[in-house]
Amino acid sequence: MSAVMITRKVRKWEKLPGKNTFCCDGRVMMARQKGVFYLTLFLIVGTCSLFFAFECPYLALHLSPAIPVFAVLLFLFVIAMLLRTSFSDPGVLPRALPEEATFIEMEIEAANGNVPAGQRPPPRIRNVQINNQIVKLKYCYTCKIFRPPRASHCSICDNCVDRFDHHCPWVGNCVGKRNYRYFYLFTMSLSLLTIYIFTFDIVHVVMRSVDKGFLNTLKETPGTVLEVLVCFFTLWSVVGLTGFHTYLISLNQTTNEDIKGSWSGKNRVQNPYSHKNIIKNCCEVLCGPTYPSVLDRRGLMEEDSSISATPVAPSSSSSTTSSSNPVPQTTKTTAPLIPNEHTPDDAKPSIAASAEKSPSPKEEHPPAKVPPLASPETDVETSITKDKTH
Ligand SMILES: [Zn+2]
Ligand SMILES: [Zn+2]
Repeated sequence: MSAVMITRKVRKWEKLPGKNTFCCDGRVMMARQKGVFYLTLFLIVGTCSLFFAFECPYLALHLSPAIPVFAVLLFLFVIAMLLRTSFSDPGVLPRALPEEATFIEMEIEAANGNVPAGQRPPPRIRNVQINNQIVKLKYCYTCKIFRPPRASHCSICDNCVDRFDHHCPWVGNCVGKRNYRYFYLFTMSLSLLTIYIFTFDIVHVVMRSVDKGFLNTLKETPGTVLEVLVCFFTLWSVVGLTGFHTYLISLNQTTNEDIKGSWSGKNRVQNPYSHKNIIKNCCEVLCGPTYPSVLDRRGLMEEDSSISATPVAPSSSSSTTSSSNPVPQTTKTTAPLIPNEHTPDDAKPSIAASAEKSPSPKEEHPPAKVPPLASPETDVETSITKDKTH
């Protein structure tokens, strides 16, 4: 009976539990579904190539050489912003380690008391106060953490993402705290590029038609028709999207919050993150500090694997591997799971009203004791301090 323990060093990205793909040894991170992202890339590169091939030589000669130069600069900027959005960590929150998950479970069970069999346990929510507004932190059953404010679990990437905006298949990634501004710059520059190409396509056709007639022009530059069609249909959606995100930025609101109606409708709850000033909101979203990734994707970790020469009892082998396994799903959840975890907020009834009501027994416990890894965010911690002083 002998077991040989082999320890090897692996990069942490190799063991990350979400549904992501990694390239360049963890430097590049994307969602697993990338088909639509390739379509985006193909449409942009394809349309611009046609423009450079068919219209630019004529426009540079007859109008100004600055037209192709500006088009190239704009094109490079669009591609840079697209890749920056697609290849980066959007703000994924690390899952709780097995020991942390067990600790949180124990805390929740202690707070809830004994729930009679067959009865649904109370929802796992903690309240924090942000700018005199009660904000609910929901428990994520997959990541085993109480999510920081504004975070949400992306079902496609299977990660909790900080300041989650939405999952964008066009860029093949989640849009969150760390890549939102690049996403916005991408939509903005793509709108400009589409308008630019569309406008100069028309100018080109008109100028050339004066010399050679409309039909001859279309025969000589067959790419123009395709470009005009692609630009025309792209224009509405991309310009509309840019307008929508400009509106959201001016209110310091996310798409997720807008869809859920977190700060509007019957709730009548004011957005606690808004500065009530468009300029300040824009500055915070677009010019605020950049946040480091908390995943440490390229960090090294040791992975133990035991090779036994003789058969080992299943219980002992499983305990060996589980002790070294960094993925937290192995932790057994003793509390029953609630399936509607990611469905729209069922606790919508006025937060303000619930704040006025006497708190439920669960909420009497230290309300915002956030687990160690649940919040790398300082804003949660500041809000906790506020809540305690409240
Ligand atoms: Zn989660
Ligand atoms: Zn996602």
